[in-house]
Amino acid sequence: MILWLQPDHADQIVAQAYADFPRETCGLIGGLRQTSIDQAVEIIPIRNAAPAPEQAYHMDERALAAALTGLEKRGLTLIGIYHSHPNGEPTPSNQDIREAAYPDTAYLLIGMKGDAPRLGAWTINYGAVEHVELHISSAPPAQPASARAARAAVLIAGLIGFIFLIVVSLSLLPPAPEIPR
Ligand SMILES: [Zn+2]
Repeated sequence: MILWLQPDHADQIVAQAYADFPRETCGLIGGLRQTSIDQAVEIIPIRNAAPAPEQAYHMDERALAAALTGLEKRGLTLIGIYHSHPNGEPTPSNQDIREAAYPDTAYLLIGMKGDAPRLGAWTINYGAVEHVELHISSAPPAQPASARAARAAVLIAGLIGFIFLIVVSLSLLPPAPEIPR
């Protein structure tokens, strides 16, 4: 899976993380789900209602429900859930892994430790964490290597079939007539 954000989306998320610092910021990414690419269309900030927002995030439940209904009305899918680690890395914490409730949705993390914020995307499927390729550009991502390989395989199979057909046709031709001397 590739998570595709426009540069504006990434800027918006990072700006929100700075505005909420030293508290964790959080929100949703609504978009369009294609075969292997999840394309972001909008960023929806949600209030962090955790009792200790410097250490955790808990999305305000009413705001979350309203945002999900809004996405559905606009024909969009929930493709991402983001939050920041104000003093940490852009990798899911043990608590993030334990509490992840959307196995098909990318978790985007903003790690603010160090000089510049870093983004990382992951799927968390009942404890199994997998890295998600993050594509931040106004241009669409290149097709994943597997799709390219599949197309190449179809082309090669077509070519082999064609050559086979020619060989068979040639072998079925009647023998050349003998030329009388
Ligand atoms: Zn976290």
